[in-house]
Amino acid sequence: MISSVYIHIPFCEKICAYCDFCKMFYNEKIVDKYLDELENEVNSLYRGELIKTIYIGGGTPSSLNIKQLERLFEITDKFKRNNFCEFTIECNFSNTTEEKLKLFKEKGINRLSFGLETTSNMQLDFLEREENLENTKETIRLAKKLGFDNINVDLMYALPGEEISDLNKDLEFINSLDIEHVSCYSLIIEEHTKLGINNIENIDSDLDYKMYQTICGFMKDNGFNHYEISNYSKEGYESRHNLVYWNNEEYYGFGLGASAYINNRRVSNTRSISHYLKGSYLLEEEILEKDDLVYYEIMLNLRKSSGIDLEKLYLLYKVRLEYNELVNKGLLVLDNNNLYIPEDKWYISNEIIIRLLEGIVYE
Ligand code: SF4
Repeated sequence: MISSVYIHIPFCEKICAYCDFCKMFYNEKIVDKYLDELENEVNSLYRGELIKTIYIGGGTPSSLNIKQLERLFEITDKFKRNNFCEFTIECNFSNTTEEKLKLFKEKGINRLSFGLETTSNMQLDFLEREENLENTKETIRLAKKLGFDNINVDLMYALPGEEISDLNKDLEFINSLDIEHVSCYSLIIEEHTKLGINNIENIDSDLDYKMYQTICGFMKDNGFNHYEISNYSKEGYESRHNLVYWNNEEYYGFGLGASAYINNRRVSNTRSISHYLKGSYLLEEEILEKDDLVYYEIMLNLRKSSGIDLEKLYLLYKVRLEYNELVNKGLLVLDNNNLYIPEDKWYISNEIIIRLLEGIVYE
């Protein structure tokens, strides 16, 4: 039974130089048309299930004006949900006004996710991000005053020229915001982005690793639980929506470039706005065979500190894993029926998962 919904709002006021997401410049008329088509897509696919998590991501959902946000919430009101539904919206500090925050509160949003990325004005210029650092503290203060008590901030590290001391400044700043959740991603330079076209190179992998360790240590010392490779939360504030992905559970995905996982199919929507506005949503779908289902179950669950439930894996797919060698080498830990990658080995999790996938035994 599907109980989660992702909605993509691809509009941004400025395009960041590293951005590989499905996004386009904000244009008032196109946004209005987009919201009409989004409603059509929801009407055509949603089957009335009780929804436990909704995530409005982007792009920059907070770039929409008040009228457009009200229209967006008319669409999300179509989802049957109870008081426990986790309802997240992604925001940028530069365009999240008090009026918008009040509207979010009124419409049932109970989790805010802000893109901060860095506190260095020089790095913000390099990344070509539209941000106003002066707004950051004030926006968080306002959000808390309005009753938001589940706030995430995204941090990006491994920026060219960044040093450990710069990272520490970012971490101290984020900690001073007294928020519940932090997502930390290293900058990956993709070829077709502006940084890639300009031949900007990723930082040295040793420094990248040291930065990852610095973040792990800082977060632990400041009361955050490292519950997923890139995510840290205070006790009880794990992102329930993102856990749906990592638990390999099904979800709807609406909007330009959105992905969904429904009835053993992984579906991707078109990234072409002209196709989408004509009602042609689908780009491709992958029908999952047993091998694929097992692969996703292992690969996604091992991103979490709790790892994979081997009994569930066996009951679902009648497969066992040969993990003894990896456990003996300290690359995996077996705790009752759960197999997980220890935190100090998450940095090489891809290699560990590939080796584990080589040892699948089908009955
Ligand atoms: S705000 Fe986010 S989605 Fe928009 S261009 Fe920047 S990174 Fe991409």
